[in-house]
Amino acid sequence: MGIERIVIVGGGTAGWMAAAALSRLRTGHRDLEIVLVESEQIGTVGVGEATIPPFKDFNRLLEIDEREMMAFVQGGFKLGIQFVDWGQVGDSYIHPFGNYGYEIDGLSFHHLWHHYQARGDNRPIQVFNLETMAAYFGRFMRTEDYQRDDLPPVNYAYHIDATTYARFLRGYAEKRGVVRREGKVADVTLDGETGHVTGITMEDGERVPGDLFVDCSGFRGLLIEQALETGYEDWSHYLPCNRAVALPCAREDGSPPLPYTRATAHSAGWQWQVPLQRRNGNGHVYCSAFMEDQQALDILVGNIAGKPQADPNFLRFTTGRRKKFWNRNVVALGLAAGFMEPLESTSIHLINTGITKLVALLSLDGVTQAQEDAFNRLTGKEYDRIRDFLILHYKATERTDSDFWNHCRTMDVPGSLAEKIGLFRATGQIFREDDELFTETSWAAVMMGQRIAMGGHNPMAESIAADPRVRGEFDEIERSVRFVAERMPAHGDYLRQYCPAA
Ligand code: FAD
Repeated sequence: MGIERIVIVGGGTAGWMAAAALSRLRTGHRDLEIVLVESEQIGTVGVGEATIPPFKDFNRLLEIDEREMMAFVQGGFKLGIQFVDWGQVGDSYIHPFGNYGYEIDGLSFHHLWHHYQARGDNRPIQVFNLETMAAYFGRFMRTEDYQRDDLPPVNYAYHIDATTYARFLRGYAEKRGVVRREGKVADVTLDGETGHVTGITMEDGERVPGDLFVDCSGFRGLLIEQALETGYEDWSHYLPCNRAVALPCAREDGSPPLPYTRATAHSAGWQWQVPLQRRNGNGHVYCSAFMEDQQALDILVGNIAGKPQADPNFLRFTTGRRKKFWNRNVVALGLAAGFMEPLESTSIHLINTGITKLVALLSLDGVTQAQEDAFNRLTGKEYDRIRDFLILHYKATERTDSDFWNHCRTMDVPGSLAEKIGLFRATGQIFREDDELFTETSWAAVMMGQRIAMGGHNPMAESIAADPRVRGEFDEIERSVRFVAERMPAHGDYLRQYCPAA
């Protein structure tokens, strides 16, 4: 059966991102109907505010003007994440977008750095990364602003107001023919033979039929779970945090927004700070087995500077993923697909890659088992790799000051992660698997930032460093990082000039 009508259930970030991307299909297929159903009464989660660099590509693909979008969503630029108090209380490091140096003669930079360290060079690896240095100085500029191939590029993402971003995309999608239907879904009808979803029924009795359904209904997974009973793989034993309380606040002291997210570890979880142009998004992610809600709120309130702009928003979640993301004619995106926690801002990214895969695999002739299998296999791998990277932040700690950290430090981790840590400890080697999202720099930044030392380096480093040209190139990387960082304007000034909040 062909696909003449796509129904998206849910109008949060996932729903409107899907609607915006799919609306582009209508340029060549005017008869294709796309309907989005959402309920203002139920509302959205509305807390996903930190993104990572591939998010820029999503917006570029939609030909969204960066300045216009950033002004609309009160956006700020993000160069990475600062982790405070993770390895030990008092520690701090930045996990930057972009790399430490670059590969020299085929060897990853951190091996050469380690080689020179062993010979008395005491420069920290951070000085070879532009995003880290710019973040420490509170500065920002885009590569386009200096356009020189001989200088390092700036890798960045955005901090956005999630609710206004969804509104922005709604305008985009509706302009391209997506029809929005307000109201609550009361029932879902399945085909008796195939088990496919044939339609949803709204509370007012109206039936909305469809051929392909995109479930963006949030944690409840209205179609993928409640109707199709797909099942959920629970990862709480690896990622134990299961609660969050969010509380945006004003930045009253007039301080400029930081060009990075801050993640500060507390006794049973961690606190996020996401700086937008006019306010900070704040929240405390914690584990209910080790902390009460009130205690979590008290810690959050005690660690934010400005006046709260809303009532505290308490959220509950179970880390994990659906056993299938694509089941029959339902594709789940966003929180309906799974949730691993917001530590590395990967949820919106997974919506983005889910949409990309959906568009790549889609055929308007109908759905097939092969499409379903490919989508599930590829998405499953992505989730596994991200999961391992997130677990690393909890496992790699020397904190002994709370039961929560004692639990995390001593918990079992997946074999794939244990191997990764073991290799780095022994030889400094990092393998990127299956085109995984996180780069060698990402893994090195978190491991070294949380006290897992490189036990050695690749023996090729000595051979490469024997060439006198290499030392010069190595030193030049630091000089060019400093050169660009010193010429960047303050982040606040850049925002005022480039994309002041509308
Ligand atoms: P929701 O926002 O929950 O939207 C669900 C939609 O479904 C709503 O429109 C609702 O009205 C509709 N709906 C549900 N049931 C019905 C029904 N019966 N009838 C009609 N409509 C219905 N991600 C990041 O990338 N970066 C971050 O910094 C980040 N921080 C986070 C912090 C926390 C504490 C949490 C919990 C999540 C965070 N996320 C983050 C994840 C991010 O918030 C989500 O991935 C994103 O908001 C997408 O949510 P969603 O659209 O899937 O679901």
